[in-house]
Amino acid sequence: MNYRRHILITGGAGFIGSHLVRLMVNTYPDYEIVNLDKLTYAGNLENLKDIEFKPNYRFVKADICDAEALNRVFADYAIDGVIHLAAESHVDRSIKDPLAFARTNVMGTLTLLQAAKEAWSGAYEGKRFYHVSTDEVYGALEFDGTLFTEETKYDPHSPYSASKASSDHFVRAYHDTFGLPTVISNCSNNYGSYQFPEKLIPLFINNIRHNKPLPVYGKGENVRDWLYVEDHARAIDLIFHRGKDGDTYNIGGFNEWKNIDLIKVMIRVVDRLLGREEGTSDKLITYVTDRAGHDLRYAIDSTKLKNELGWEPSLQFEEGIEKTVRWYLDHQGWLDHVTSGEYLRYYEDMYAGR
Ligand code: NAD
Repeated sequence: MNYRRHILITGGAGFIGSHLVRLMVNTYPDYEIVNLDKLTYAGNLENLKDIEFKPNYRFVKADICDAEALNRVFADYAIDGVIHLAAESHVDRSIKDPLAFARTNVMGTLTLLQAAKEAWSGAYEGKRFYHVSTDEVYGALEFDGTLFTEETKYDPHSPYSASKASSDHFVRAYHDTFGLPTVISNCSNNYGSYQFPEKLIPLFINNIRHNKPLPVYGKGENVRDWLYVEDHARAIDLIFHRGKDGDTYNIGGFNEWKNIDLIKVMIRVVDRLLGREEGTSDKLITYVTDRAGHDLRYAIDSTKLKNELGWEPSLQFEEGIEKTVRWYLDHQGWLDHVTSGEYLRYYEDMYAGR
């Protein structure tokens, strides 16, 4: 088949990447979708079982820091668009091992930019390099109702956000210096199915189910803006196709939650779905020492995306969280599988003595 486009998605076996790969493979049967992933602890091909045999889907196991492998992929598949998600993505891990974050998020992004530049060698018509980034690059807000806009100055605080900020800067530098047609989006916290259970929502759903403690940083006062992952994937599709070259788009749900309130919602929903009496699992809340440099509040203004490209979140939070809890309760096998081995050792080490 002659495909109309050949899109490379990096990190497609991860949480957001797998939702995006599924969306693109199903929505565009006339595109060849190449998923390149190193399959770290966070990448699971099990996340893509339902589409793995679709004729327009390809998988390549490779590291984004491996220039030769990238050059081969650009040549073999005549790649004309990149949507780059591969990253080390967990803030706690970045505090334990910052260099791993510099390697993948900074050097990996730079290696990918260079591979795109060389493969396209100035023939940029119809090409696009899209970097999927985070709102954490903007730093932290006070409890004063202000929001991050696309003009907010970068002020990252964790090794994770510093590495993502740096990769955003390299993407802009390749646009400004070499004319590479790039676009960036900065999104708030995502939730939904297939998220690796070291992140707050799947971790807590699983712990509530198994009557395990719910480690809450500090007093649980930190505020995050939450977006349903499928809404993020839709936004990425839209920005990839219709965003302006060299531009940045914020993506968020206008949906701020204090951690402790979010945890109470999860307790209520899990207990109800498991047929437990309301409040049964309140006792599992366990306050632990706050994360070093923990940002107080993130909240994102996605008005530009709404006004320019007509995107809006499709799900109310209550509906999204109920869907998400149901999914994790129905997929215990997936959870058991991805939390065995290496992850289990990390988790025990992380929370030992707390
Ligand atoms: P994830 O950790 O679930 O998935 C990351 C994927 O990248 C995994 O499949 C992993 O195997 C792969 N990967 C890691 N290192 C690699 C390497 N060197 N080479 C190739 N593949 C590699 O992450 P996620 O939560 O899906 O996040 C995806 C992207 O979206 C990241 O760039 C992240 O910064 C960004 N983001 C995430 C959120 C969120 O709430 N999760 C919010 C905004 C932006």
